[in-house]
Amino acid sequence: MPSETVKLTASFKLSGSIPESLFSTYREILTGLIDYAGAKGITSFRRLRAEKYYELRVKHPNLPSHYIYTACQMACSIYKSFRKLKRRGLAKAEKPVFKKQVIMLDDHLFTLNLESWEVSIAVENGRVKLKLLHGTYHEKFKEMRIGQAWLVKSEDGFYLKVVFSKTVELVESNEKAIAVDINENNVVFGSEERVSNIKTGERVMRTAYFLKRRRLQSKPRLNEKPLLAKYRGRESRRVEYIYHKLANQIIAEAKELKASTIVLEELANIRKRIRRSKELNGRLNRWSFRKLQNIIDYKAKLAGLNVKYVDAKGTSSLCPTCGGKLSPNGYRQMKCRKCSLELDRDIIAVKNLLRRYQMDVGGFTRSPRKPSHDKRGEGMKVYARPERRHYISKEKHPDFYAKFGGIEIAK
Ligand SMILES: [Zn+2]
Repeated sequence: MPSETVKLTASFKLSGSIPESLFSTYREILTGLIDYAGAKGITSFRRLRAEKYYELRVKHPNLPSHYIYTACQMACSIYKSFRKLKRRGLAKAEKPVFKKQVIMLDDHLFTLNLESWEVSIAVENGRVKLKLLHGTYHEKFKEMRIGQAWLVKSEDGFYLKVVFSKTVELVESNEKAIAVDINENNVVFGSEERVSNIKTGERVMRTAYFLKRRRLQSKPRLNEKPLLAKYRGRESRRVEYIYHKLANQIIAEAKELKASTIVLEELANIRKRIRRSKELNGRLNRWSFRKLQNIIDYKAKLAGLNVKYVDAKGTSSLCPTCGGKLSPNGYRQMKCRKCSLELDRDIIAVKNLLRRYQMDVGGFTRSPRKPSHDKRGEGMKVYARPERRHYISKEKHPDFYAKFGGIEIAK
């Protein structure tokens, strides 16, 4: 049986508070490390840690040492993403600046208990215990492995974001599949047997919120930030709600038809299909497609289904039967110039995706690719390394030696 590891990030709002000094100290350390990494062109976490750890440990003796490791990890990934953007001409600034109130935690810095819904976090001179606000959505994480986490301070309080993972067994893949065609305003999915077209109305909704936000911004007021944030939050919650419902429908359909696989479009090709308008730029973006695909992807795998990504080039303009060019033929219809096949516009992409998948399954000609993660959200994620012991010499680091002795456990 094939298996796969599903990774999911859960967000918990925390009840209680975390000492302000933890955020300010971490921020100071992180900013210093980013500047140092930038000045010396360091992209290796090990090198950054080797060059800065002792100095920071001495400067912040009460801070649990693992905060310095995670700050080194974050600084490296922030600098790396910045350098990438800079090389592509996408960053105007001279150096990266990290403005968010975010602290990365490894397994030494937090302990999660999903039975009592509590988290214990290491702080300067001890630990604090906080309650996790949770809903039915969080129940599924009880049976998953805990990875690293981020502590986030936002306008309305503290959040804990935890990466969970689970290894799932998937059914053996066969010819039966459900293909999903994502458009701006509707999602079409189905099999050879039947096709469903679900209107998401996302474009209309996003436009409405966009105009609302712009109206707010054009009228300068003393305190517009909370309102803007409120609208943005409401918008993303509504969109996510639609996505989850839709993903559940797609998986239910796959189960009912005993399909083994969900077929999605490879993202590189989706990007080109998005119409861009200057005025409403950002209203509909790649993020939305990734988000929906990611939701379908993990829900499918948790349900034991395979997920395959196929090339989506030409799926809406080529004939699913003979590969010939299609021409419009009436309001909803398209007609093939070569074999005269007539089809409804909406089902063409689904048929083409299914055909491409079946060709892949038959010959195993190409290996499916996973969608690349959203860089804005995932840029900070660096995975933990095995523990290693370092010996700190008296001669090289006398001040450190005096305070902490010769052996320091480093990760
Ligand atoms: Zn044809």
